[in-house]
Amino acid sequence: MLRGALERFYYIPYCAVCDEAVEPPTPSPFVCKNCLSQLPFRMGKEEVSWEGSFPLYATFFYKDVLPGLIVSMKFSERTDRARALAPLMARTIQRQGLTADAIIPVPLHRRRLAERGYNQAAILADFLSKSTGIPVLNSLLIRHLETDRQSEARSVRERKLHMRDVFCLDRTSPLVAGLAGRPVLLLDDVVTTGSTLMEAARPLLAEGLRVTGLVAATGRDRYLGYGEAAQQW
Ligand SMILES: [Zn+2]
Repeated sequence: MLRGALERFYYIPYCAVCDEAVEPPTPSPFVCKNCLSQLPFRMGKEEVSWEGSFPLYATFFYKDVLPGLIVSMKFSERTDRARALAPLMARTIQRQGLTADAIIPVPLHRRRLAERGYNQAAILADFLSKSTGIPVLNSLLIRHLETDRQSEARSVRERKLHMRDVFCLDRTSPLVAGLAGRPVLLLDDVVTTGSTLMEAARPLLAEGLRVTGLVAATGRDRYLGYGEAAQQW
């Protein structure tokens, strides 16, 4: 107990982007004011134009520091970066008036999960849940086929074929009954071609769930410089 109190007393939050100390208050307690001003927010473009059959929102453009943050979140155990990004993604939910009964992170195949030790989308979902109060639903959606790493390099068409029926619902889950019509946020860290998110949504949509996609970042749509954005304000 004393140890906990001391840790709180001496705890200085550090910036998940530049690792310097953060002076509160900032919109995310884990990003300093300087880094915050340089993050590529999609302000005004949070609704992504894409080919999916359900709406998709993203908080950031996949540019500047974002690729580095996402890659380290995925492969270098920098899960503190998920903790930093989640409160900023919560603001997208708020701004866009998104409502959901649950957050469903895009799952990894169990073998990949065992290799990596964690699913970055699930960690992002947990922190997003803390910021929004929306519960995480981890057990319903399953990735039952493992897609190989080369799939990243395939053509969009090949990749779409390859991704078919990669995901399914856990039919043994008591949650399967009574899902129809309920709104859920399907969460991932990044969207590139969009095929993973579309395939992950397929069994959810087939069950009658109202799916809204949410990702931290995507390079889709054109990034506007400050001057351009100000003109369109
Ligand atoms: Zn910083």
